[in-house]
Amino acid sequence: MAADLARLRTLSADPALVPQVYDYCDQWCEYCGLTDRCLALRWVQARGGGELADLYRDLAAAARASDNGLHASLNPAIMAALAAAGTHFGDPLEGLAREYAARTHMFLRSLDQEPPATADDESRPPGARAVVARYHLLLAAKIFRAVAAAAIDPAASSSATSDATGTAKAALLVAGRSRLALADMAPAARDSRPADLIALLQRIEAELVRRFPLAPSFERPGFDAPRVSAAERRRPAMSPSLVSIYRETA
Ligand code: SF4
Repeated sequence: MAADLARLRTLSADPALVPQVYDYCDQWCEYCGLTDRCLALRWVQARGGGELADLYRDLAAAARASDNGLHASLNPAIMAALAAAGTHFGDPLEGLAREYAARTHMFLRSLDQEPPATADDESRPPGARAVVARYHLLLAAKIFRAVAAAAIDPAASSSATSDATGTAKAALLVAGRSRLALADMAPAARDSRPADLIALLQRIEAELVRRFPLAPSFERPGFDAPRVSAAERRRPAMSPSLVSIYRETA
């Protein structure tokens, strides 16, 4: 473990990294243009696998083990949200996100073909079904984290820089892209479920903005400000139908 933490400290000291770029992204690394600026992805690769939550846990362990500045990489709201994982707040917004996840899961299961769980060819953009599949659980997770952070500190909901606001911004992006992807699927659908899911997403987006009014203007590190320029990103070409989804936000 000590060797792992030393490796994490070495990796995190690279000035090319964008601090906390992984906090407010869509976690779809195959299509991300900031992979070489992201400590989370480097750490997952260095460990030979894992998930984003591993980084938070290992950062916390490294910070406890030393005083070398890793404390700056820790976000108390995220740690609290992780500690509360599995808790159901009974929050109406969280409930809507869970409802969307469950109904989308059933919709996807009813289609002829299962969507790919991950990108199998990252040189090509994902299809609409893959977008919906990828994001339906992530949306619930993002909303859980925003609600958890606001439960810990109600003032965070109206703070321009809080984790709750940033996470709500990420949730809005995920919801918006999902809505566009569902609209892409609607013409070929056998029933009104894509339209019904779009309506549910619109409710969720409206409630997110009501609860986190500064979320739309939150500036995500790397993506908004400070911004890594398009020339410095390594983004695959986007298809015309999905280009609006991935515009300059992923
Ligand atoms: S910033 Fe990019 S590379 Fe890092 S976790 Fe998010 S999607 Fe993956």
